[in-house]
Order: sequence, then structure tokens, then C-alpha cells
Amino acid sequence: MIVDALLDLVLPRRCVGCGAGVALLCGRCVPSAAPVRVQFDELGVVAAAAYADVLRRALILYKERGRRDLAGPLGELLGRAARTALNGRAPPGRRVVLVAVPSSRSVAAARGGDHLGRLAPRAAAVAGTRVTRGVLSLTRAVRDSAGLGVAARASNLHEAFRARPAPAGVAALLIDDIVTTGATLREAHRALSCSGWPVLGAAVVAATPRPGSNPIGSAHFGGLA
Ligand SMILES: [Zn+2]
Repeated sequence: MIVDALLDLVLPRRCVGCGAGVALLCGRCVPSAAPVRVQFDELGVVAAAAYADVLRRALILYKERGRRDLAGPLGELLGRAARTALNGRAPPGRRVVLVAVPSSRSVAAARGGDHLGRLAPRAAAVAGTRVTRGVLSLTRAVRDSAGLGVAARASNLHEAFRARPAPAGVAALLIDDIVTTGATLREAHRALSCSGWPVLGAAVVAATPRPGSNPIGSAHFGGLA
């Protein structure tokens, strides 16, 4: 941690896409396409962009290579996706909170801590809402889903999550970093619904391209420091 802080002081911020010394994701490299909406049964998911190109590289650097300084721009992108997901959907009289999907302790440890938890505060600030921590937890050990196929991901996560009972007057927007098959978000949706949570949808930083995903309108994202 101290070494990271010192490196931040001595190394100039360079764009992970092009190396320009202006921002961690410069205005040319930050995803400029519109957010992507993916539907998994009744759960609508908004991704800031497709999991490709510079965003894919930034997520790998952040999650696998310890580039914690990328939490800022990636949290910003997650917040923009959350804001799009909530646009016009917040039910009157209910407070909306962001609820992160849980990751297994061993996976979190191997990746250098709670990478999604570090994105959540910035995302909440951008989306104009708050994070509620500790809502979802694991009922048993699960495998890291990376490398598993569609059916294996679903069985790996079958009834793997439990949720705290919903407080009165609150609705949840799920957050995760990447959506691929939707198995994690679907299981989180199931667990929340079983505990009485109204679930407005989900927001993620990136979605792996798949048939049936539709860009929403148009949006231009400026550079992110
Ligand atoms: Zn760049």
C-alpha cells in the first residue's frame, strides 16, 4: 500500500491505452460507444461498454496486475452504467442502493482484495446513490468462474448466494465488474428477491459481446483520470 502510494507520487499518470501522460484512460481511449443493455430473463443489465480493446486491458491490469489506481476511472464507468440503468426506473418513495455481488474469499485474496468493493463508492457518487455493503454473501465455496462454460457457471453458482432481509423502503441495483453469461447476476437477483428486495436491474463496467445486446442511444465519455 505504501509502495503504491509512493509510486503514485513519482510516476506520471499514463493512459493504459496509448501511453499519453494525461489521464489513466485518455479521452481518445475511453470507450466512446453508447452503453450496452443486455437482458437476462427479467433482469436488465447495463454495461458502460463492451469487454474489448482498452477497457478489457484496463480491467485485466486492475484485477490481475494490481493496478489499483484504475479503480477511479473504472468506478466512474460503473457509475455511468448505474446512472443509465436507473434512469427513470427509481420507484417513488424508495431509496435505491447499490448491492455488489459477492466473490469468494479465496478469489478475492488471489486478486489482491475486494476489487469490486473499491469501485463501488465512486460508482455510487456518480450515480447519485449509496452502496450498502454485506447484503449478499456466499452460502458455500464456489469456483472462480473464469474459464468455466455456460452450464458449469450456472451449476457452480446454483443457490450459492444468500441475502440479508430487505429493509423497508429500499430497492437494489446490482453491480458487478464484468457480465459474461449472466450466471452471477441471475443468482444474486434470485437471492435478493427471495429476501424481499425489489431489484431494479444491474450495472456492470463491461459486457462480453453477445448476440442480442443493444446499444442505448449515444454517449461520449471524456478522458478519465
Ligand atoms: Zn489513451
